[in-house]
Amino acid sequence: MSEPIFAGQDVRRIETRAIHVPLPDLDGLRPLSMPIFQTSGFAFDDPDALTDGLNRPDGAFGYSRLSNPTVRALENAVADLEGGVAAVATASGMSAVNTVLLGSLRAGDHAVMQRQLYGGTTSSFRHLAERFGVETTGIVGDDIAELRAAIRPNTKLVYVETITNPTTRVCDLPAVVEAAHEHGAIVVVDNTFATPVLFRPLEHGADIVLHSTTKYFGGHSDVTGGVIVFADDARYRAVWDTAQELGPTADPFAAWLTLRGLHTLPLRMRQHCANATVIAERLAAHPAVSAVHWPGIPTHPDHETARKLLPDGYGSTFSFDVAAGREAARAFVSHLRLAVMAPSLGGIETLALHPASTSHRQLDDAGLAAAGVGQGTIRLAVGLEHADDLWSDLAQALEHAAG
Ligand SMILES: *Cc1c(COP(=O)(O)O)cnc(C)c1O
Repeated sequence: MSEPIFAGQDVRRIETRAIHVPLPDLDGLRPLSMPIFQTSGFAFDDPDALTDGLNRPDGAFGYSRLSNPTVRALENAVADLEGGVAAVATASGMSAVNTVLLGSLRAGDHAVMQRQLYGGTTSSFRHLAERFGVETTGIVGDDIAELRAAIRPNTKLVYVETITNPTTRVCDLPAVVEAAHEHGAIVVVDNTFATPVLFRPLEHGADIVLHSTTKYFGGHSDVTGGVIVFADDARYRAVWDTAQELGPTADPFAAWLTLRGLHTLPLRMRQHCANATVIAERLAAHPAVSAVHWPGIPTHPDHETARKLLPDGYGSTFSFDVAAGREAARAFVSHLRLAVMAPSLGGIETLALHPASTSHRQLDDAGLAAAGVGQGTIRLAVGLEHADDLWSDLAQALEHAAG
C-alpha cells in the first residue's frame, strides 16, 4: 500500500488520493466536504448550453439523471483510485452490472463468464440468453486453456470477479486479458471484494471495472450503490449513453454517503485485511473447521496467483466449512453474539451467513458443488471489531458446531 499508484505520473499514494479527491468545478468555491446537490436539475439562460449538458457527460450539469455535481465527485474519485479515465455511479451494484452488460452486448453476441460469480450477476447472464439472444459460456476462471476454448468468433465480453463469492477464487487476470484481447473481446472485472486498495484491474489491462459500492466503498452498511470505471473514453461515452437511457444512475445523497466512506477506504481495508488474517488462521487451526477458503491460506488453490496479484492483502470476505455439516453450520450462525447474521459484506461490523440456507438456497447439492458451497459452508465478512473480541465470539459459536 505504500507504492505510488502511478509511478512517474502522480506520486501521491492511495491513502492521500482517497482524501484529497478531485472535486468538479464549483464556481470558485472550495468546500472541505463535497455538498449534496439535492436537485433534479439546473437552470440555464442559453438553450445551447442546456443542449450540450444533455448530450454529453462533460457538458454543463443539466439534469441529475444525466449528471450531478455530487455524483460526479464520487465518479471522479473512484476513477482516480482505479486509474480509469472516467466513471458512472449507479444506484446499486446490480445496476452497474446490468448497465455494462446491456450497454456492451447485443443479440447474437457471445460472452464468457467465470462460473462462480455473484448470484445476481449469474441470473443477469442467464436472462441475457433467454430474453436477448446473448449466449454465455461459464468457465472456472483460472484455467486459461478453458477460456481460450470457450471463446468464439462472436465473443465480445469476458466477465470475471477479482475474488469470487464466497469461494474466493482468484483468476490470473493478466492471462485472461491477453486471451480475451487476442480475440477482440473486452474484459469486465467486478472488483467489489478487493477494492482499488488491494487491486486495480485496469492496470492489468482490463477494459471496465465495476463495484457494488454498497460493500467496502460505502463501508458502513448505510447506503446502496454501484460504480463503473472505464479504461478508455469511447467506451465510457457509449455506456454513459446506455445509463442515461436505462436510468440507473446514482442519487446525490447516496453518492455523498459513498464518497464519505471512500475517504477512509484505504484505512479500513488495511484493518479488514489484518483482522481477516487473524480470523482465517485461527479458524484453519480449529478442530470443528474442515477447510478455510481464503486466498491467504497456502492450501487455497489460487494462493500463488493471489500472492502475485494481491500483495497488499487478500480481502476480508471468505468462507469456511464446518466439519459436522449443515445443522452444525446453522447452529454456529444462530449462536453468534457479536458477529451478525445478515447478507452483505464490507461494512464496519462482522457479518456471517449460511449460504446453503440463504444466498444459495435455490441450489441442489450439484448446484451447490458447482458454486463451491457445501452444506457446512459459512461465509464470513470480517469487520473492524478488535480481532480478539471477534475470535472469542466465533470460538464460542463453534462450540455449538462440534457435531
Ligand atoms: C453485492 C454484490 C453485487 C451486487 O451489488 P448490490 O449493491 O447489492 O446491487 C455484485 N457483485 C458482488 C461481488 C457483490 O458482492
